[in-house]
Amino acid sequence: MNILILGSGGREHSLAWAIKQNPKCDRLIVAPGNAGIAQIADCADLNILDGDAVANFVEENTIDFVIIGPEGPLAAGVADRLRRTGTLVFGPSQAAAQLEASKSFTKAICDAAGAPTAGYARFTEAAPARAYVQAQGAPIVIKADGLAAGKGVTVAMTVDEALDALDHMFDGSFGPAGTAVVIEEFMEGEEASFFVLCDGTTILPVGTAQDHKRAFDGDQGPNTGGMGAYSPAPVMTDEVTQKALREIIQPTMDEMARRGTPFQGVLFCGLMIENGQPRLVEYNVRFGDPECQVLMMRLGGQVLDLLQACAEQRLHEISVNWADDHALTIVMAANGYPGDYAKGSVIGGLDSQPADSFHMVFHAGTKRFEGQYQAHGGRVLNITARGASLAEAHEQAYAMAQGVDWPGGFYRSDIGWRAL
Ligand code: ATP
Repeated sequence: MNILILGSGGREHSLAWAIKQNPKCDRLIVAPGNAGIAQIADCADLNILDGDAVANFVEENTIDFVIIGPEGPLAAGVADRLRRTGTLVFGPSQAAAQLEASKSFTKAICDAAGAPTAGYARFTEAAPARAYVQAQGAPIVIKADGLAAGKGVTVAMTVDEALDALDHMFDGSFGPAGTAVVIEEFMEGEEASFFVLCDGTTILPVGTAQDHKRAFDGDQGPNTGGMGAYSPAPVMTDEVTQKALREIIQPTMDEMARRGTPFQGVLFCGLMIENGQPRLVEYNVRFGDPECQVLMMRLGGQVLDLLQACAEQRLHEISVNWADDHALTIVMAANGYPGDYAKGSVIGGLDSQPADSFHMVFHAGTKRFEGQYQAHGGRVLNITARGASLAEAHEQAYAMAQGVDWPGGFYRSDIGWRAL
């Protein structure tokens, strides 16, 4: 089977790494890919937001299966374009990708499905939004309605902070994503991510994880795309998992099907759990990054069978082969991230890192230049390890991180603290 993965991050490196282990995988191409991915797959320069360009590439390269990593191509309708010409695709339609692309869409679906989530109101003008915040008080959560790459959310602990966030949204800083604002009730609890495959009918859980959003140890500093993750998430007990499936995910999938826009792909459910009761924070319509890296480390080569069964609407025929294991990933980021950071610093020590089914350095923002690896992004490497316990995975991953020689980067020293 010839496979094309769209994307260029640590998520796509881990997907490529897992899929490559499956004997069904013949040729593997990742577009655009990165320096780490280039070691295990062919990389192709392709505008992955352009459905026609991707469809032409698929035809020219006799690709049998396309796996879409990030949300951009999904929201742009690339999956629909490929399906129209008969290509097998993993990833939801543009209509179903609204579950991530529009927060008010998701809220409306939750209302219709009776799924527990934070109370909310939506505004397109500043004055009524300000009045609403003043009436509700703090803490309160202000969100740009559209896609803002994780930067469109303010959890405001005071009314002033909430009003500032509103001013910022309505002054155009978020472009089209901020023309509408969703204001939400603040939810207390512990967060976890729950990943399920759905083929439009059948739902198959593929793992839980917890990530670390803040830049620095002790959950201090600014929010980031994620500084590390581990799987499984202890807070996702069997009981919480069953509740999330029964009360949130199944009714959401049923509502999407009822509307004629069934969801087909991986649903990333961000949950807030308080006293054993999960409530929905958000949906994403793709694997998380860096959560994907720990899931792939645990699932290995079977992931190709799972994603293919999902794309072929055969999830009822397949089950996940679980090992009783744990995985942890540490994100190494460029100094200055998530603010300004330099590009081009040299990373040493990567060639002597272990690379096997228990240890892997997944690359995110790297380039190969004159025989050396260089940093070319904010989040640059994902040092990932698997073990019989979380403590073992933690120890192995930190031992690997110490072997990376990169003065231009930093990482948190406390990934997994909550579970450990
Ligand atoms: P990302 O894609 O980075 O996860 P996003 O822009 O899609 O972010 P959300 O996931 O909705 O935004 O919110 C980001 C974070 O803000 C959540 O992970 C959670 O920690 C916090 N948050 C969001 N909504 C609430 C809420 N109602 N109550 C408490 N915390 C919240």
